[in-house]
Amino acid sequence: MQHTTREWQQLDASHHLHPFTDFQALNKKGSRIITKAEGVYLEDSDGRRILDGMAGLWCVNMGYGRQELVDAATKQMQQLPYYNLFFQTSHPPAAELATLLAEITPAHLNHVFFTGSGSECNDTVLRMVRHYWASKGQPDKQVIISRHNAYHGSTVAGASLGGMKGMHAQGGLPIPGIVHIDQPYHFGEGQGMSAHDFGLERAQQLEQKILELGVDKVAAFIGEPIQGAGGVIIPPASYWPEIQRICDKYGILLIADEVICGFGRTGHWFASEGFGIKPDLMCLAKGITSGYLPMGAVMVGDRVAKVLVEEGGEFNHGFTYSGHPVACAVAIANIKLMQSESIVKRIHDNIGPYLQRRWSELADHPLVGETRGKGLVAALEIVQDKQTKRRFPAELQAGMTCREFCFNNGLVMRAVGDTMIISPPLVITEEQVDELVKLARISLDLTAAKLQ
Ligand code: PLP
Repeated sequence: MQHTTREWQQLDASHHLHPFTDFQALNKKGSRIITKAEGVYLEDSDGRRILDGMAGLWCVNMGYGRQELVDAATKQMQQLPYYNLFFQTSHPPAAELATLLAEITPAHLNHVFFTGSGSECNDTVLRMVRHYWASKGQPDKQVIISRHNAYHGSTVAGASLGGMKGMHAQGGLPIPGIVHIDQPYHFGEGQGMSAHDFGLERAQQLEQKILELGVDKVAAFIGEPIQGAGGVIIPPASYWPEIQRICDKYGILLIADEVICGFGRTGHWFASEGFGIKPDLMCLAKGITSGYLPMGAVMVGDRVAKVLVEEGGEFNHGFTYSGHPVACAVAIANIKLMQSESIVKRIHDNIGPYLQRRWSELADHPLVGETRGKGLVAALEIVQDKQTKRRFPAELQAGMTCREFCFNNGLVMRAVGDTMIISPPLVITEEQVDELVKLARISLDLTAAKLQ
């Protein structure tokens, strides 16, 4: 079907309820219509080229237009487009991908439960950790501790595990048995403490919460190694070792939600490795297929797998599309492509440090209170007063203003309040990083001119 932009917008507004969108506001304005993409660039329905600084939704890691992934999907669709994994059945792509994931993830993560998305991973871990403790004869260990401003997806369990106020406000969330402690957001909440002390203080809230609830009630702690949707919040170096120490001390399970951080984003195959975390369960999605098909996977450590296998009986859980053969085939091809292009080493040694160096140059901009990042994920904080780091009044919507200027100038950069974040495809080149930083600076200049 060929339509003009206006026609597409009208069709869209008449029939489509978008995720995370104010329907009324969108219908007034009209959607952006993205029609094609290649490498790190999108093209919209007016033929404008836009650098995708967010890799879609943090997922198109190997870039758009990878023929290897298209071929893998086509071949698998011809051979076996669908079969399920329920009731003692399997298929070669699921068995092969499970083996490959056990190889590339940390050594003690040797089992995998497939899902269709990151949210489904977190629904799965909620049920799995409770089933684990019940199987060990401790059914009262039900509570999962998470953080305010965490993002763990949009299903009922995912949104409950997450700590987004706006999500909790709709539909009576969180569900019982999930509690939240404060996040390790030093720029926003550090209040003059050193990063080191602040990291320890925030981690020690976990210990206080375990003692308050009673260790016999607590099943697990869940966290994103770097909070993505919360604003690319990189915890101080003191944070994760202290969390690990507390989980070990009380024997509670540690769940790393690596839906964004996994598959090379931080310069390690998995961010847990870089932060020295040894998770019992690890959630993967997005980059597993570079977003070409929906897929998620919960990696299960030996400690949990042993109990589930030997004592758990039937696990009454699963999805029609758990381990969809075409998604598995694309994930296998995607991981092999990452390996053949040494993409993780490239991020760790070359393009990651290059992006961080160029990105940190934006710290001299009058509107920027802080820049931070790791590997190929980064953030900057827009402030009204650089010295005191005071924010603009909320009604000025500084972040949204900057985001609009970015888009109109050919860059997708996301705004979380007044925090601007990027997470470009892992295949971005130095020249494209230069372009990204240049467009970000232009957009900050335009934002400053409008707001000041
Ligand atoms: N966990 C994290 C850390 C995420 O960032 C996301 C999505 O952004 C999810 C879970 C949910 O994944 P999905 O949208 O595939 O359900």
